[in-house]
Amino acid sequence: PPAIKTISLSLNAFNADIPLVGLVLAESLYHSTPFNTRTNSNLWCTPENSFIVFTASSTSTNPFVNANAVHTFWKLCIPFNFKSLEILFDEKESTEIKEKLLSKYKDIKKVSILDLLNDADEKIKKFGEYVYNKVFVNYTAKQWNIPIEQVDTSVINRVPVLLGYDDRYFQDKYQFMPKNGYNEIFQNMLNNSNIEVRTSVDAKDIINIKNGEVFLNGNKFLGKVIYTGPLDELFDYEYGPLPYRSLNLKFEDKKENYYQPSSVVNYPNDNEYTRITEFKYLSNQIIEGDTTILKEYPLTYDYRNSEHVPYYAIFNDDNIKLYEKYRLKTSNIKNLYLCGRLAEYKYYNMDAVVRRALDLFEEIKGE
Ligand code: UDP
Repeated sequence: PPAIKTISLSLNAFNADIPLVGLVLAESLYHSTPFNTRTNSNLWCTPENSFIVFTASSTSTNPFVNANAVHTFWKLCIPFNFKSLEILFDEKESTEIKEKLLSKYKDIKKVSILDLLNDADEKIKKFGEYVYNKVFVNYTAKQWNIPIEQVDTSVINRVPVLLGYDDRYFQDKYQFMPKNGYNEIFQNMLNNSNIEVRTSVDAKDIINIKNGEVFLNGNKFLGKVIYTGPLDELFDYEYGPLPYRSLNLKFEDKKENYYQPSSVVNYPNDNEYTRITEFKYLSNQIIEGDTTILKEYPLTYDYRNSEHVPYYAIFNDDNIKLYEKYRLKTSNIKNLYLCGRLAEYKYYNMDAVVRRALDLFEEIKGE
């Protein structure tokens, strides 16, 4: 059975009914992640030239809420696109940059900001530097607490520059929110009679690993064990803690119809939080005079602090080497499988981790 240390299957953080699930997919759920992707995201340029991002509101379909773009208000967009370009640069300048980008990156809809920074064309390079400085540098420093140069390029490349007018955060074909929240999905899955759920249990009180073998309640266990927690914890931090980045998530109730113009607003340059999510836009709930928002404050993760949640692996050579050391300890345990962001020390998106779980299932079901 899955042993779950901290999980609430019906935590209603929203004053109406936004069901949030605990640790399992917390990063995705506390943020505005529809299944497979987030919604559109727009960036707003304030008079002080600071930047704010809005994501689009959602429209409803059954059984999911369709999170495709419907937006009524925006100034600039993140990912940075041609709309943003046209707002920030005069017509002559923006036309020239657009033409250069389109002729350089023919048939390519999105390009890495790092490629633009290194472009041989001076105009494209300058444009790249502008976007890099306004959108990426401060947000990244805030999020990771290290200079952007030290952040793995795969992280920066998660947010491209779009060569066109697409203003969605992701360009995936299907972008949905579960109509009745993620909670229902998990409840339905866990209702299966083959599954026994035990909550408030530390898996390590039940499962033990000794000499390449798994023990369950002290007895040798030959069944399959899928471990989804941090690997350093499984081995009592024998080689030291694996570094993670955490978040301090602060909900606020606002006595107003809407707090912000769209479901997510990013603050690359201002404030201590990186973004604010307003859930009402995602659930399409009609609630007069009341709304709940969530501010994401980046936080240094401390494994000794039980309040901290390890949301993001921090990629660099040392950390990956350390992870590999732990992983090596599992390589001779035939019935132990690692799956997920924590156990694999990866930056999986929700769709990718679901894919990974299904693939692992296919791989081991007949064994
Ligand atoms: N990022 C940024 N400015 C933004 C949004 C993202 O610099 O407005 C960078 C930042 O380094 C961040 C990374 O892109 O960590 C990935 O962003 P994403 O929105 O995918 O992060 P997540 O939703 O996983 O926290």
